[in-house]
Amino acid sequence: MGKLYDELTEEIEFDHGMHACMDCGTCTALCAAAEFYDYSPREVMDIVQSQDDDKIRELISSNKIWYCGQCLSCKPRCPRGNNPGAVVLALRRLSVKTGLFAESEKGRQQLLAKRLFGDNMMNRGYTLLPTNPVPSHFPELGKDWEYYHNHLAEMREWWGVPVDLENSPGSARIIPEKDMEELRAIYKATGAVDLMNAVEDGMAKKLGGKEEVEKFWKNWQDTVDTRNYKIKGGKSK
Ligand code: SF4
Ligand code: SF4
Repeated sequence: MGKLYDELTEEIEFDHGMHACMDCGTCTALCAAAEFYDYSPREVMDIVQSQDDDKIRELISSNKIWYCGQCLSCKPRCPRGNNPGAVVLALRRLSVKTGLFAESEKGRQQLLAKRLFGDNMMNRGYTLLPTNPVPSHFPELGKDWEYYHNHLAEMREWWGVPVDLENSPGSARIIPEKDMEELRAIYKATGAVDLMNAVEDGMAKKLGGKEEVEKFWKNWQDTVDTRNYKIKGGKSK
């Protein structure tokens, strides 16, 4: 048993998700992510159950833990009552805390999640704002979305929703500052702020400073593909 394994056992999701895996593979057989990616919840459970720190380090430094879609289809079907999706969540948290998330390309995408969903929550109280899905980043939303995005006020009027959505009652209203303060206090007390800071710090450490993190961020905004940023002098997984 090693230090990483010990840390993992401190996570509540680990406690909920890992009992005793008998390696039957039922979870992998039904897992949608396993169908499309180099990913197997059975393998994840096997590695975790080995309690081998080297294997756990390799796992949380890899893309694999980021492929799970958190659908939790595996949970009700496991004959041992495990929840591999929850174990993956515990592994992700450990990956961020240790900075090892920045070793993998999919892990580095945590910066996007932090700066979009995380910063939105801290500043506006929402994970996603109506204006966030810019058409160049979401070509799959098609021409209709592009038109809506570029004619926001006109379309809102046409649909009969308030043009000034942010200052109207409803789902995009401005959250009062006193409620925002409470929300920020909850994020701080539960460790979410620490995790968000760990993402920024881990990226700076991996890329060689905060300036490089800004270049990574700009590169993603311009090209919508984190693989286009080349890490200096390092192999990018
Ligand atoms: S987690 Fe459950 S379903 Fe998956 S391999 Fe282990 S025992 Fe089987
Ligand atoms: S929660 Fe993750 S591991 Fe479980 S079935 Fe869904 S994608 Fe697969």
